Amino acid sequence: MAARTDLVTDPAVVEGLLLARRGQAYYSRALSRLSDADFDGPSLLAGWGRRHLIAHVGLNARALTRLVEWAATGVETPMYASATQRAEEIDFSATLPVQALRNLSDHAAIHLTVEWRDLPDEAWSREVRTAQGRTVPVSETVWMRTREVWIHAVDLDAGARFEDFPPELLDRILVDVTGSWARRREAEGLPRFVLEPTDRALHTVAGPHAAGLDAAGSITVRGSSAALARWATGRGSAGVTTADGEPAPAAPRWL
Ligand code: ZN
Repeated sequence: MAARTDLVTDPAVVEGLLLARRGQAYYSRALSRLSDADFDGPSLLAGWGRRHLIAHVGLNARALTRLVEWAATGVETPMYASATQRAEEIDFSATLPVQALRNLSDHAAIHLTVEWRDLPDEAWSREVRTAQGRTVPVSETVWMRTREVWIHAVDLDAGARFEDFPPELLDRILVDVTGSWARRREAEGLPRFVLEPTDRALHTVAGPHAAGLDAAGSITVRGSSAALARWATGRGSAGVTTADGEPAPAAPRWL
């Protein structure tokens, strides 16, 4: 029988689930502010209308649900059959009537949260594979959904802003992005960034501290945590500058 509360007891996962569900509520509120006619407008993501974005976020919940079911049953169910299948499904779903898109958004989100709720404590460390081919414990689906719903809420262009994000979310985004850059720095020749959030005591260095920071070879980018998170995730450089007060260079890609 299905439980009515989460089975997981790991405090980090419990906290993560809270942030994911707050994010889903935040995204759903932004979506509910859009009229049916607004669905045909552009999103803030280059090349994607709101319909594509809304379809993508709903289908992302379904894809993550498949990973949770994989962990629960041991039967391998990937997020997507292929990148082509993923793109085609988004294209198709974007053509659905508005009410069907709203239903996709709501139902997929509920299904995912129910799967999380009913996943036994011992199953949360089981490994699954993401669409990028990374092997991760299924608990990672919580953060994958968290960043998706909060940031795409902003992309809907319906009044959501990075400035509304909880501080712990902004910090986690900065750690995630700079970690991704650090892992790819050598292979892709990325510059080393030092992020200086003006509303935090600690600076975020995009690289391992142990390697020693070469101040001359790094680029300092300064701004509020919200502005830095917006910049680092590729959503514009409003509110960020270099240490000299110059415009910040474009951030490398995140994912
Ligand atoms: Zn996305």
